[in-house]
Amino acid sequence: MHVPVTGNGIADSTNQITHWGVPGVVLFADNGLKGYGYTGTHALLSGDQLITNFIAHIYGPLLMGEDATDVQALWKKLYHYPAARWIGRAGISQLALACIDVALWDLKAKAANLPLWKLLSNDPMPVVKAYNTDYGWLNIPMEQLIEGCKKVVAQGFTGVKIKVGHQNPKIDMRRIAAVREAVGSNVRLMIDVNGKWDLNIARKYAAQLKEFNLFWIEEPLWFDDLEAHIVLASFLGVPIALGEQLYSEYHFDGFMASGAVDFVQVDAVRVGGITEWWSVADKAHAKGLPVVPHVGDMMNIHLQTCLAHPASTLLEYIPWLRHCFEEPATVEAGVFKLPEKPGAGTTFRPEAMQEFSRPLH
Ligand code: MG
Repeated sequence: MHVPVTGNGIADSTNQITHWGVPGVVLFADNGLKGYGYTGTHALLSGDQLITNFIAHIYGPLLMGEDATDVQALWKKLYHYPAARWIGRAGISQLALACIDVALWDLKAKAANLPLWKLLSNDPMPVVKAYNTDYGWLNIPMEQLIEGCKKVVAQGFTGVKIKVGHQNPKIDMRRIAAVREAVGSNVRLMIDVNGKWDLNIARKYAAQLKEFNLFWIEEPLWFDDLEAHIVLASFLGVPIALGEQLYSEYHFDGFMASGAVDFVQVDAVRVGGITEWWSVADKAHAKGLPVVPHVGDMMNIHLQTCLAHPASTLLEYIPWLRHCFEEPATVEAGVFKLPEKPGAGTTFRPEAMQEFSRPLH
């Protein structure tokens, strides 16, 4: 599916999009249940087709006749499938694996007649708070940015995130200062660079950034550059959030072991699904690091995992896909409502699938 985003489109420092891509899979089990799994993209049709082709031609045949309830074993079988190894251990292959893994968890929770968060934990976290990203895009003019941030704080959202990374960072500083003043000192304020800066820019503005009392700075540097993040963490004085561009628990290991990340933003639909997400969250929790997922899924899957995992009490709110689900993620007074329907929260309304679907090949 390709689903329109807010307004006439949104921008950050490196992307401009009008639609969110939702390539996915429906698994049909012998017991008659259907499992829905999907990932999130920037709606590049040929890219989405690569993902669905990967599912149809490479992973799909490996699933036929298997026991759908043994999700972890199936995850390992697909992840370690030797013939696919050279095609990619990140990107397309992990997004395709995420679709399947999520669909398998959906099947498993439906078979147990439980929402996934109850299946995953006997001791779930009853409260997941929401922070809002959807009024902080880079293309939103200053006045609207301030009004939007004030509005969502008044609605009860526990924080706001704004995008930065203008060609001239002074513009970013002015926008951050204005939002901080508008929302007051008690509201969580995050900024997201989307990998645009380097160490020189970070050094130049570190003192100013510290004064804004930021809850975190997200993806300040190029995503894979662990060494630069270690240097950054040594002088910045602002907590670092990252993870939306890391594709396995091994990628996360390096960042977590070296103190280069403070908020772990592991995204189930990028990291190969809920199975791998859970491994990363366990490791983060063991190190005392909070997990605040990036929502490539637009919330529904991560609401389930956050409710179940003790490392996660805060989740990003972006409402672009809400109208597509049978049970959309809903926030009241800054807190997510508890999903009740059996499954992973991934069942799409047939009308939405019809309206937004795109050709597979
Ligand atoms: Mg981000």
